[in-house]
Amino acid sequence: MDSQYPILNSQEILEDDRAHVWHPMMNHYNLNKDPLKIMTHASGCRIVDSEGKEYLDAMAGLWCVNIGYGRKEIAEAAYEQMVQLSYYPLSQVNPQSVKLAAKISEITPESLQHVWFVNSGSEAVDTAIKISRAWGKRNGGRFKIIARYQGYHGATFGGVSLTGQTQRRLDFEPLLPGIVHVQAPYFFRSSAKDEDELTNRCIEELDSVIRYQGPETIAAFIAEPIIGGGGVILPSKNYLKRVREICDTYGVLMICDEVITGFGRTGQLFASDLFEVQPDIMTMAKGLSSGYLPIGATAVSDRVFSDLNSEGDTGFLQINTYGGHPVSCAAAIKNLEILINEKMVENSRDVGKYLGDILKRLNDYPCVGEVRGVGLLWGVELVEEDGTPLSTNATSKILAFAKQRGVILGKNAGIANGPSNTITISPPLILSKDEADLIGSVLSDALREHLS
Ligand code: PLP
Repeated sequence: MDSQYPILNSQEILEDDRAHVWHPMMNHYNLNKDPLKIMTHASGCRIVDSEGKEYLDAMAGLWCVNIGYGRKEIAEAAYEQMVQLSYYPLSQVNPQSVKLAAKISEITPESLQHVWFVNSGSEAVDTAIKISRAWGKRNGGRFKIIARYQGYHGATFGGVSLTGQTQRRLDFEPLLPGIVHVQAPYFFRSSAKDEDELTNRCIEELDSVIRYQGPETIAAFIAEPIIGGGGVILPSKNYLKRVREICDTYGVLMICDEVITGFGRTGQLFASDLFEVQPDIMTMAKGLSSGYLPIGATAVSDRVFSDLNSEGDTGFLQINTYGGHPVSCAAAIKNLEILINEKMVENSRDVGKYLGDILKRLNDYPCVGEVRGVGLLWGVELVEEDGTPLSTNATSKILAFAKQRGVILGKNAGIANGPSNTITISPPLILSKDEADLIGSVLSDALREHLS
């Protein structure tokens, strides 16, 4: 990586940061004890702080830098677009948004042919809620949405209302009405004897919740195909297919929130492909541009699109100033070109399997409850001696040890006000086997240190 680091007055930056920048997911009071790092450079899977210390970013930022950092082609595509047409709203046509929408339609499951552009995953989810409700209005007045307790769907009021993680909700309640939560298939913490039994239970619960609520009131069901921030929770192979069947039985739309799982993360382009389902609506962001510029999208099926665009209809009455921004679209187009041409989805599958085999060896440690994942999306759930979840504090210490040793890992949001006890791993999809080895050895050392 370029060794020319700018000379920074770190002290001054940190003081101004403390005075003016409100960082996410933390109480700033604690920053006195544990100051944040100033990140200045990145290339590939590596990120560098202001002291020149290099880290392997095994979280791809926030699960998003799928193609890796520092690709100049994206900067060039953005530059050229800015010079040519820096902005125009989608009240007219801009060629970059057309090209990107066509590409998204081509690579997502064939059910999805129409794309609404936004700027983030949360907005994509809010758009999916509004599309579902507008569709429901035109289909007998359906308005409720079923989501899952362990799921995360964003920071906006719609997104947080669908989110089931208790501590992300409590400060902001009461949330959006008309949202009902059901259990996700979380095998490790269930009493089911096998995954089939758990799948049956979850499907029976979903079926009975729909019947009790009244099927004619339910517009949509939403799920992350694999729960990400809730702790990398994988369903059985059949779960989503069975959900699809239930949705079809009751005329409910199925929304797959692929904000994390999309664009190669699971070793397939989309987790919907992995689980062989055709959603009616898909939300996406993160890997769509690999975080080079903010962009999200909500893709819908012909059926949903046509119901909102029939003769005499008002259409979908929403506008986003920056939806379909030509510069973000140009960056996303180049990002997808790189992702596909350089076979990063295949790398995610192959190196992901290699990484998974390394991580599964951690099962030898008594504090490891379960190692689970697919592609380059993994979770290591940590437990106390009696099998109860490890505390957030102990998990954070393990992460701090790994960071000190140059590997950035993540942790989940605890379920039902429980601790954050799953270490999450979601590196850029260009991860090499050597880098996978490094993740495994540093995490192994960190667990050994914890147990000592
Ligand atoms: N949906 C899922 C599954 C996510 O993981 C996230 C963010 O992590 C979002 C939605 C919200 O995306 P954003 O943070 O871009 O608003």
